[in-house]
Amino acid sequence: MKAMPRSPNPLRPVAFLDRDGVLIEDTGYPHRIEEVRWIPGIMPAIRRLNAAGLAVCLVTNQAGVARGLYDEATVGRLHVWMAEQARAAGARIDGFAYCPFHPAAEEERYRRTSARRKPGPGMIEDWLAHFALRREGSFLIGDRETDLAAAAAAGIPGHLFPGGDMDAFVAGLLVAA
Ligand SMILES: [Mg+2]
Repeated sequence: MKAMPRSPNPLRPVAFLDRDGVLIEDTGYPHRIEEVRWIPGIMPAIRRLNAAGLAVCLVTNQAGVARGLYDEATVGRLHVWMAEQARAAGARIDGFAYCPFHPAAEEERYRRTSARRKPGPGMIEDWLAHFALRREGSFLIGDRETDLAAAAAAGIPGHLFPGGDMDAFVAGLLVAA
């Protein structure tokens, strides 16, 4: 693996991670701490991304909000807890973005077609626009085609996680890069 070249550009590239199916098992709208099952190897994988100089940003569709299964405060609490768990494992998650909207939401305030909802690139674009991050060298890891479509729409590579050990998967991606 080549060392990252030193650059005067202070902007960091980003590893965008989907949440359900990439950070934690997708058990079907997981929203309680008791439901969280971490993907095997996820904490070493995040540490590896941190060490490679990448920011780690979560981008997750949370249509469960639009469906009335749980509220945004619940999503926020879970994300705070996830970040704390990662920190305790020596892994840094730089931020969580979620999209609560769905075109067929029960509640009117969540009923919309949003570019933030994957396959739209909105969450990725928002991270890149508002923080010291750069598109070049960024990539996304997802477990669905909609994740890869969002990455493509944002002009970054998307990698489909096939299951197994996330650290081994990430190590392979970084070597290939
Ligand atoms: Mg997923």
